[in-house]
Amino acid sequence: MDSGRSILSTRTYETLKTILFFYVLLKQSVKAQRHLRARGIITTVREFYTWIAQHVIMLALRLPAAQRKVKTEMDKAKLDIEAQLVPKGIDVTRHLALPTDGQTPEWIIAEMDKMDAELGKPNSWKLGKLSGAVYHGGEDMERVIVAAYGKYCVSNPLHPDVFPAIRKMEAEIVAMTLKLFNGDHGAGTMTSGGTESIIMSVKTHRDWARAVKGVTEPEIIVPSSAHAAFDKGAAYLKIKVHSIPVDPYTRKVDLKAVKRAINGNTIMLVGSTVNFPDGNQDDIKGLGKLAAKYNVGLHVDCCLGSFIVPYLEKAGLSEGVNGKYKLYPFDFRVPGVTAISCDTHKYGFAPKGTSVIMYRDAELRRHQYYVNPDWSGGVYASPSLSGSRPGALIAGTWAVMQYMGSNGYLESCRQIVTCARTIADRIVSSIPELYILGSPPASVVAFGSKHPKVNVLEVGDKMSQRGWHLNGLTGPAAVHIACTRLTVDKVDMFIEDLKDAVKEAKMQPTGKGSMVAVYGLGNSSAVGPAMVGQLATAFLDTMYKA
Ligand SMILES: *Cc1c(COP(=O)(O)O)cnc(C)c1O
Repeated sequence: MDSGRSILSTRTYETLKTILFFYVLLKQSVKAQRHLRARGIITTVREFYTWIAQHVIMLALRLPAAQRKVKTEMDKAKLDIEAQLVPKGIDVTRHLALPTDGQTPEWIIAEMDKMDAELGKPNSWKLGKLSGAVYHGGEDMERVIVAAYGKYCVSNPLHPDVFPAIRKMEAEIVAMTLKLFNGDHGAGTMTSGGTESIIMSVKTHRDWARAVKGVTEPEIIVPSSAHAAFDKGAAYLKIKVHSIPVDPYTRKVDLKAVKRAINGNTIMLVGSTVNFPDGNQDDIKGLGKLAAKYNVGLHVDCCLGSFIVPYLEKAGLSEGVNGKYKLYPFDFRVPGVTAISCDTHKYGFAPKGTSVIMYRDAELRRHQYYVNPDWSGGVYASPSLSGSRPGALIAGTWAVMQYMGSNGYLESCRQIVTCARTIADRIVSSIPELYILGSPPASVVAFGSKHPKVNVLEVGDKMSQRGWHLNGLTGPAAVHIACTRLTVDKVDMFIEDLKDAVKEAKMQPTGKGSMVAVYGLGNSSAVGPAMVGQLATAFLDTMYKA
């Protein structure tokens, strides 16, 4: 009797094991097949090759001799970074513990002035030679923001009953922004910036897909030109990312490849208007068609386009000129679009730390919320990542939007976009060594080199020596400028400096400028990415060196 039961259970056990084995095998092969379909054979093989090469090199680097060399190089690089970021010298005052008694307000301001003097050039951005970063910079605007901060300094929208005006202002900021993007039935929230807006949207679509379609292994499909915040969000939320290449000429994502990557686990597609690297726009209408057909989300990243792209049409600039710089539909009027992120802290000119995430409807927004009815601290409900939030930033944003008004944004759109297009046109007509990436409709212009003797990253270095802070790009190597209000009257200076920089890069190529070093290392060798990663980590450590 006993032994009979045990034979039976052994058999059952064996059967179960076999079923489980085939289940896992099937699941893995479906996964592999989906991966292969999304990436294509060549990319998969190349990815595999890179993976092997990196591991082989990392193994080789474990040899004592190699390790000593790597350590020496890394230590040298770390010291370089530190020398650039952390002030040295015996006369630098360091505040490493609280003062025993509080300091006077006068002392505090004086100490800040001293720091600025010691560390140098707190106002260098005012020269207007900076790509992005400071978007308005007018003193009138600064006064408006500071006044709003002052009035609502201690406010916190986590307590809307205590700060009712802040609640009202946030709701109005969202409503005004939705109107700009034609989200008549839309809903949204404010966040601390574009990155949080994007992470919230990924989470929202993940929870929506789980609730509505039962997706438990979520994947997103992202153009290679999209912002790193999508990868960051996916890394935080354990979501698989399919990175889809863009057309080398138009810089728009390859729709056929996007379609191939869609499967039952897809929660959302991504398109930019405009993207960060080269300021071009993806085909949102085409992406919308795919999103609608397969019932997946479509996030349009307008973090950078922010308050520029909604005004291009009204400014009469959306059609472009001579077939260049045309802006195609991108907002909630496009069927299939489910979410749009818009950074008020970029071309909205609002204080840093503000952005708006918008959804097609309030039902979708619910999947963004976090609600915990069982918390011992009381029923807890919060709309986004943060708990307590700075109400002063909301007041500052509301104040700026009232101060600018529709006509203010229209005029700033006209000026900034005209500046960017003039720069692009003049590069084409007067610097034959360079070319423009795609046909950027808004405020960002990226240029690459088509001359075998001109390394464009070296041109970027030569521009740095002339006081310009531009962004170096990879894939392909290029340099971009994001025009702001401060760049508008610097076009002539920019073009003259750029001509000189190109000439210099051609005559005396050094091949080891800082842009060249960092980006070259990242791209050209298998070991590059691993080492650059270590360097970037060291950079972050250095930021917290008091
Ligand atoms: C700036 C930017 C973001 C988000 O960046 P934050 O620095 O977090 O505000 C996202 N997408 C694009 C295209 C951007 O330019």
